[in-house]
Amino acid sequence: MDLINILPDSVANQIAAGEVVDRPASAVKELLENAMDAGATQIDLVVKDAGRTLIQVIDNGCGMSDSDARLCFERHATSKIHRSDDLFAIRTMGFRGEALASIAAISQVELRTRLHDSELGTQVIIEGSQIVSQQPTACPPGTSMAMKNLFYNVPARRNFLKKDSVELSHIEEVFRRVTLIHYDLGFTLTSNGKLLYDLKAGSMLQRISQLYGNPYKERFYNVEEETDLLKIKGFVGKPEHVRKTRGEQYLFVNGRFIKHPALSAAVERAYEGMLPDHSYPSYFIGLQVDPSRIDINIHPTKTEVKFVDEHAMFAILRSAVKKALGQFTLATELEFNTPPEFNIPPAPKGYTPPTPRISYNPDYNPFRSIPSQTHLHLEKDTNDFKGIKDIDDPIDIKDPVPLSLPKSTCLQVQNRHIVTPLSSGLAIIDQQRAHERILFDQLTQSRNNAVTQSQTLLFPVNCSFSAADAEMFNELLPDLRDYGFAIDPMGQCTFVVTATPPDIKESELQECFDHMLVDYKSSTLQKFNNRSQSLCAALARQMAVKPGKVLSQEEMQQLVADLFACPQADTTPGGKKIITIVKPEELLK
Ligand code: ADP
Ligand code: MG
Repeated sequence: MDLINILPDSVANQIAAGEVVDRPASAVKELLENAMDAGATQIDLVVKDAGRTLIQVIDNGCGMSDSDARLCFERHATSKIHRSDDLFAIRTMGFRGEALASIAAISQVELRTRLHDSELGTQVIIEGSQIVSQQPTACPPGTSMAMKNLFYNVPARRNFLKKDSVELSHIEEVFRRVTLIHYDLGFTLTSNGKLLYDLKAGSMLQRISQLYGNPYKERFYNVEEETDLLKIKGFVGKPEHVRKTRGEQYLFVNGRFIKHPALSAAVERAYEGMLPDHSYPSYFIGLQVDPSRIDINIHPTKTEVKFVDEHAMFAILRSAVKKALGQFTLATELEFNTPPEFNIPPAPKGYTPPTPRISYNPDYNPFRSIPSQTHLHLEKDTNDFKGIKDIDDPIDIKDPVPLSLPKSTCLQVQNRHIVTPLSSGLAIIDQQRAHERILFDQLTQSRNNAVTQSQTLLFPVNCSFSAADAEMFNELLPDLRDYGFAIDPMGQCTFVVTATPPDIKESELQECFDHMLVDYKSSTLQKFNNRSQSLCAALARQMAVKPGKVLSQEEMQQLVADLFACPQADTTPGGKKIITIVKPEELLK
């Protein structure tokens, strides 16, 4: 008995579709890539219910003719390659000719497209791989591809979709991966009628800050290198802005987001010795290589690639990042010059490498820099603050040095640490962290006691954010009001501030909020058990005096007294150490 039958196309397409479109985000990726391949300069993505009900991509690219508009839904229909040789010179995002066939197999698609030199466009409606209608239509040049009711005919797949917030975050991730590297194009993302991102064409750094917020502009060093083999252009995080999560690590090759553990390791190796344990640098790095040296002929939803010249690329990338981090040494130069065929332009004559600008040093001991002629007299009970864990044995100095400082005098060292004598030794207090702790306690208390302090501004201040940040800010408004802010929305991305807690300078409001949002985003991933606590911590961090601020004697004394009044004076809300005690024995040395 013969058992084998050939599956109808619609079933075959549905099976194949599972490979290309496993969730809304993968359809988004395919449609965005098609729009870019069509040469679009403005691409608008619209989703409803996290892509379940609608995923639409509108572009101003080349558009399609009447017959292409039908043909594009056939499997293996592509305009991008003709011969197998072309597979080794791929410069487009797509080439397999199966995305639209897959999408048409599992949703209801409406395509409207028009060539730039045609008067009229064409509309094609296709459901479950069957063309329902095709007719001429008036539409702008370019293409609009709308896929509705994803998996309407594959209930099993539909049931596997996660809740909307999860699917939407996958879509946003795809959107970031595409838009970060195609910063020369304009993009928007609208979800359920709300404009989440409106990204204008610009530089890579502008794109990064459009996506992640303004403070990101200051958090990165530029990496740029060009060799015969590899062109590198991107940004690597300054060591002082490391993260506890591997979040923002983006590598791209020829305009495509990739995952490549070896190349990622090359970047991290460049940071060797500069980062505290369990922390990861952020980076956004675009690579350009000859397409014939890559094998991207991999699974469409995967992001792995293979390189012919992996080892050389590793060395070049690591050196380039090291150089960006200000570690340009002879060793770096040697690495660049081996193997010799990489034509790195030699550094110009008389070139002095930039002094490393890395300020992070976990062993930083400001005490060392106290001028040696300063005599500190430590008197028992000079300033016996309670509440510090480090206090143990009281001092007993047999041979006191001459008294040159009055009681409980504070010294500011390098405008970032306050040094003050205690009975247990010399306390070195980080001024920013101390203030952060004080403000955090004040903020949480004022909230609990409803005795919020607030100062009305003489002139209201407007603050604006990216669409995504504005939405988050909007959600935080009730909490911010509890802390003494008077803020009201004014339009979509702008807010007007009419009152603030006493410690905030109005000229620094925008910056304070920008940083607060960044901190808030990362602190919500961390240890705080609720939203208002992490907001408080973020706010306190921003309001706190910064290193570099000169403090008067009274200010220092007030800060120290306020700090020791806090129940947890020794650590910041984020768990960083505020006070270091130098014991008398160590002092005597
Ligand atoms: P591939 O991108 O691999 O070629 P797709 O199934 O994604 O395969 O698309 C099939 C073809 O449809 C493309 O090769 C292209 O010619 C055409 N096409 C798809 N989307 C667009 C678009 N937005 N604008 C113009 N042409 C498009
Ligand atoms: Mg495609």
